[in-house]
Amino acid sequence: MRKINYIAVHCTATAQSATVESIKRYWKEQLGWKSPGYHYIIDSKGEITQLLDCAEVSNGVRGHNSETINVCYIGGVDGENKPIDNRTRQQCGKLRFLIRKLKELHSNAIIQGHRDFPNVAKACPCFDAKEEYKDL
Ligand SMILES: [Zn+2]
Repeated sequence: MRKINYIAVHCTATAQSATVESIKRYWKEQLGWKSPGYHYIIDSKGEITQLLDCAEVSNGVRGHNSETINVCYIGGVDGENKPIDNRTRQQCGKLRFLIRKLKELHSNAIIQGHRDFPNVAKACPCFDAKEEYKDL
């Protein structure tokens, strides 16, 4: 297993109704990515989909992917594409569940939002992940 220094939290910055399949298609066809953006993605019903083995490198945080596990919820923008924390209760619960599990496996990893990495001009994941998960 590679050394994991970060568990990074993301939003898709799409409608909450976006499907995992449509997001995967976007990465592949629009962005031309060979690997998925995240290891795990959680839809509005709280269903967790694993897109990539954690031993593999995903495409979530430029410059940090080799040391990061990327976790994401579907949503994060309002009807005008403005950043908003619109996680459903199910997503909140499953995010915490998943991040706790990952932290148990990688106890030295720092849990933080995409926006908490240096030089990131994004709102992603639209909430303060450091604060929310500081007890994990
Ligand atoms: Zn992000």
